[in-house]
Parts: sequence; C-alpha cells; structure tokens
Amino acid sequence: MNVQKTLDALKARLYEIHDLHVAAGVLQWDQETDMPPKGAKARARQVATLRRLAHEKFTSPEIGEMLQILEDQGLPQWDPDSDEARLVRVTRYDYDRATKVPSDWVKAFAQLTSEARVVWREARARADFALFRPYLERIVVMVREYAHFFAPFDHIYDPLLDRFERKMKTAQVQALFERVREGQTRLLQHILSRPQVDNAVLHRHYDRQKQRDLIERMVAHIGFDLERGRIDFSTHPFTTGFSIDDVRFTIRIKENDLSEVLSGGLHEMGHALYHQGIDPKYEGLPLGRGASLGVHESQSRLWENLVGRSRAFWQFFFPWVQETFPENLRDVTPEAFYRALNRVEPSFIRVEADEVTYNLHIILRFELEIALLTEDLKVADLPEAWNAKMKAYLGVVPPDDAKGVLQDIHWSQGSFGYFPTYALGNLLSAQIWNAMPQELGDLNTFMSRGEFQPILEWLRERIYRHGNKFDPQELIQRATGQTIQAEPYLAYLEGKYGDIYG
Ligand code: ZN
Repeated sequence: MNVQKTLDALKARLYEIHDLHVAAGVLQWDQETDMPPKGAKARARQVATLRRLAHEKFTSPEIGEMLQILEDQGLPQWDPDSDEARLVRVTRYDYDRATKVPSDWVKAFAQLTSEARVVWREARARADFALFRPYLERIVVMVREYAHFFAPFDHIYDPLLDRFERKMKTAQVQALFERVREGQTRLLQHILSRPQVDNAVLHRHYDRQKQRDLIERMVAHIGFDLERGRIDFSTHPFTTGFSIDDVRFTIRIKENDLSEVLSGGLHEMGHALYHQGIDPKYEGLPLGRGASLGVHESQSRLWENLVGRSRAFWQFFFPWVQETFPENLRDVTPEAFYRALNRVEPSFIRVEADEVTYNLHIILRFELEIALLTEDLKVADLPEAWNAKMKAYLGVVPPDDAKGVLQDIHWSQGSFGYFPTYALGNLLSAQIWNAMPQELGDLNTFMSRGEFQPILEWLRERIYRHGNKFDPQELIQRATGQTIQAEPYLAYLEGKYGDIYG
C-alpha cells in the first residue's frame, strides 16, 4: 500500500475512534449537568460501551500495521516537524501505551477501581481510612504491575508520570519540586508572621443568577466564544469539548462566597480558551487536543491567577462587579477587592488552597505516591505520613482523615502520576507569562484597559494552535526559549505577596 493511501486510511480510523469518544463525552457531560440521579446506572453502562468500542478499534492489529508502513516508508521522506510525521509519532506513542498493557489487567483494574471508588466515598463520609485501606493496598500493587509493563525505566514512577506528561522524568520533577518546596514554605512562613488580609467582603450574600450572568459577560469579554461554547452548572467544575467549535465548561456558585465563581469560572475558561484555539486542521485526530495535563493546567492557572488575580485585571473589572452588586460593594475599593481575592491561609483541603500553599499540597502527594510505589511506605502508615507532611509544609494537621488523606478521588481511581501535573501547570503559567512582554510590552497596561486580545492571540500563536503536535517540553521550549523552570513562578509569588503582605 502506498504511503498516502495508508495515511488516509489511518486518519479515517482515527476520526471514527474520536467520534466514539466524543459521544461518550456528551453522555458524561449530560450526566454531570442535567441527568436525573437515578439515570446513573444505565449511563455508566452506555459510556463504558462506547469507550470499549473505541478502545477495541484503536488497539486493533490493523492500526499497528498502518503505523508500521508509515514509519518505514513515510517518516524517512517527511520533514520531522510536518503534521504527517508528528501524527504518526503521537499515534504510535498512544498505540504503544494502549497495547502494552494486557487486557486482563485492564479489566481487573477497572473492576477494582470501580469498587474502590464506592468504598472511598463511604470511607470519606465516615472519616474511616481503615475501610479504604485494603482497596488502596491492592491498587498500589496493580499500579506497580502497570509500571512494569513499560520496563525498563529509570524510576518506577516514570511510566505513571508519562501517562499524563509525555516524556517527563521523575528525577526532573523531583529537582523542580525540591526548589519549589523550599521557596514556598519559606514564603509562607514570612506571610504568616504578617497581619492577615481581610476577605469578609467576598462572603456577603451574592445572588446566584447575577453571579452567573456576570461570569458569562466577563469570559465573553475576555475572548471565550459563546457561539462555539457554553456554560453550565455542575458540582465539580470541568471543561469538555466535543469539537473545536463546541467547547463547554461548568461552574459552581456559592451565595456566600463570590470567589468560587470568579476563580472557578476563570480557571475553566482557561482550559476552554486553549481548546477553542487549536488549529481546526487537527480536529478529530490525536493532534487535536492539549499537549499534556500540565500544559492544559498552565492555561487554566494563567487565566485564573496571573490574569484573574492581578491588580490590573480588577482595575478594569471591579466596576462591573460593583455595578452588579452595588448593595454589597458600594463601600469597597478595587484594591481591597484585589487583596481579598489573594488572601493566603494554610488549609487542609487542596482544592481550596491559595497560590502560595497549593503546590505544597501537590508536593506532599507526589512524595507519598513515590514512597508507596518504591515500597518505602506502607499503605497502613499513609495517614500518619500525610499528617506529618502537612505539619512540616503547611503547619496544620487535619482533624480527621476525611479532611486529610481521604480528601481526593484520584487514588481510588488508580490515577497515580496525575497530581504533579497540577504543580507543573503552576510553574509553566508564570514561565509562559514572563515570555510575553518581550513581544507585547507591559501586560498590565492591556489588562487595566480591558484589552485581552493581544494576550490571547500570543497564546494561540505560541501554544494553543499547535494542539498535541509537539511533546510538552518541546512546546514550552519553543514558546518560552527554555524547558520547564521553577524560578519564574517563585519570583512571581515573592513579588506579588511581598507587596500584599509587606
Ligand atoms: Zn484545571
């Protein structure tokens, strides 16, 4: 078969697989937003059927044969940076990951984690780690098996990290996190010795519908295209895309906490802007998604924090909020509002953490995951190890395991290797932000005038449009001139919070 015909045949298969995944995605979005609760059982089966069909199609020997032909006859004649060459490389990478794991293992793991999730929910509700412990022990055993399907490796954690952050190595993350832990714990100590910022203004009563309308007007102004996307409500905010022209995100509203919709809404908007910005020619192919979880998170965090928690941003937007809630904010200045949104306070719960403490929650989890996988830590000793690290890094100890080791769903799903991508995203957000002024000049000038187009255009050009064409670190190197660094983020935190806390 000739190269062009094989490439066309491969793409035709990939489009079909993509469509099956999208159909499952629509069902899941509906489940989280509109579905009556009793529909859950049937819906789980429907989603599983579509995912299984997609998986079978993708792992079929024909895909392997087509990839082989394209590697033998296509790659030698293509430019290594061409879309064709990159499509073959990325698809090969996905194919190897999908086929190296025996289907018996996949089945057993799906069974184990679906039971474990139910038990974890119960254990968390009762703050009873002992209930969850036998499941987590079996999960750790199976996750170690998973890693060994990808042997040889430098570190047993490498194959797990690689699932979410292509080609990133554990040693590299350890070195970055070492710096971050040292820098952020030191900064936190300084902040805790200073007078606390008052954020009571955020906790007045804010009407739900007005909050929803406000966030929609804000994201539309910034550049989220509502003719190619929409906003819904869900318990846990998330972003999903069925095509580049249909990208949706959800928000959660609290009537007594305005920061919830502002931070959550701008966070998900960041994910959604990334998706809307991918080059349409990659639609339906493995190149038509974000480069990695870390890069995706860099965009949600960039818009949520570097933009959405900046003084310049609120110089422009505070009057919008004030007009929407005059009874609450008549007596409040933009500066007081900005400071309230940037209050730093160690807490037990990761998802409620501020910019200064968030990475410390992640580093704690990363270190514990590694210790479990290298068998330096027993699952039985996990709660104690958790609390000791909370004390050391954040200076607080959770009152029970529900607010401690049981708080996140990830381990019950077997998602080891996922947590570090949150912190990598934070580091990348500042690094990418720092690369912009060389071309754009002072970003605060734009933001304080409500002009977000130059920032969005820069990100589309350097990051979004490329989708998954480049490996994450290659993309970052191309966009910023360097691979991932810890210093820009630390410098950003020190500058900003040095100013707020004196
Ligand atoms: Zn996110």
